[in-house]
Amino acid sequence: MHVRGVDSFDGMTNLPKELRARLAERFTLAFPQVVEGTEPANDSSRKYLFALGDGNRIESVYMPMGDRTSICLSSQAGCAVGCTFCVTGFFGAGRNLTPSEMLGQFFTIQQEHNVPSESLNAVFMGMGEPLLNFDHLMTTLDTMYATIAPKRITVSTSGIIPGIEALAAAPRRPNLAVSINAPDRKRREEIMPITAKYPLDELIAVLKRYPADKHHEITIEYVLLAGFNDTPSDAMALARLIRGLDAKVNAIPFNEDVNLPSWMKRPTDTAIDRFVDTLVHNGVGVTVRRSKGREIAAACGQLRGKEVATGRVARGKSLP
Ligand code: SAH
Ligand code: SF4
Repeated sequence: MHVRGVDSFDGMTNLPKELRARLAERFTLAFPQVVEGTEPANDSSRKYLFALGDGNRIESVYMPMGDRTSICLSSQAGCAVGCTFCVTGFFGAGRNLTPSEMLGQFFTIQQEHNVPSESLNAVFMGMGEPLLNFDHLMTTLDTMYATIAPKRITVSTSGIIPGIEALAAAPRRPNLAVSINAPDRKRREEIMPITAKYPLDELIAVLKRYPADKHHEITIEYVLLAGFNDTPSDAMALARLIRGLDAKVNAIPFNEDVNLPSWMKRPTDTAIDRFVDTLVHNGVGVTVRRSKGREIAAACGQLRGKEVATGRVARGKSLP
């Protein structure tokens, strides 16, 4: 299915007709249903809200970028990690997605935009913590590898140490992105309570042991919050923290949302530039997410959040 882009048993023309009929009798091919697709943003990116078979809602993002296209995928229908700057975290835990639901997001968006597999990247930066859905993630990746090289896939984590170690031991590994988001343990714990369980220094030590090379890159994600972690001295502290780590930084200006604490603001462009320049001067490679689509991706969960806020989906147990 994934290699040939076929979405029905009937389309599997390399199989005998009788077998196709028998398959169609016994099995169903179900895809997540698109509930809402945003209008293309100014960089043509689009965000999708999908309904799963049990009514859960998840988001994915289509992001064309020159000759490559990235598709940002959700791994869980919510998130128990509870980062305070994240809409998905705000709405709380949700069940693990099955491999079919993760692949379904990917397949549906790829088909809709007719993107050839050779130009695709997949990033697990949507809703949920992929390394807390490890087994299903590995099955999903194994299927994806049939059409996309591991180095074209990135898994983003909030720093689940056992998951990172398990990923390091896997025979084929995607790129790893780790959301660090603060230059010290105290501030990280304020916005990422998971730091109490997986301390920052241990996380950095694990990343230093992580087998990185040009096919298995490590990215440090850093959400920039005005007045909280965005000064040049914060940039210097971050540079010190990750010294010795073969990694680049992806600075993500905070995406504001009504559901998030009102003190959380996106820094000004000048503050963002100063932060980035300081990292560069301290020898750290850095990219900034400025285009709309990638900001949309950073804030996966906001479209569902809007639906919940308008009462179309109940918050709480029925929306884990
Ligand atoms: N759970 C994983 C992957 C999903 S979150 C993780 O935390 O890494 C993907 C990225 O979006 C993370 O780097 C996270 O820090 C960032 N993010 C979440 N909410 C955001 C917001 N409101 N503004 C900007 N970035 C945000
Ligand atoms: Fe979960 Fe990632 Fe959001 Fe944190 S940033 S709550 S880990 S999805």
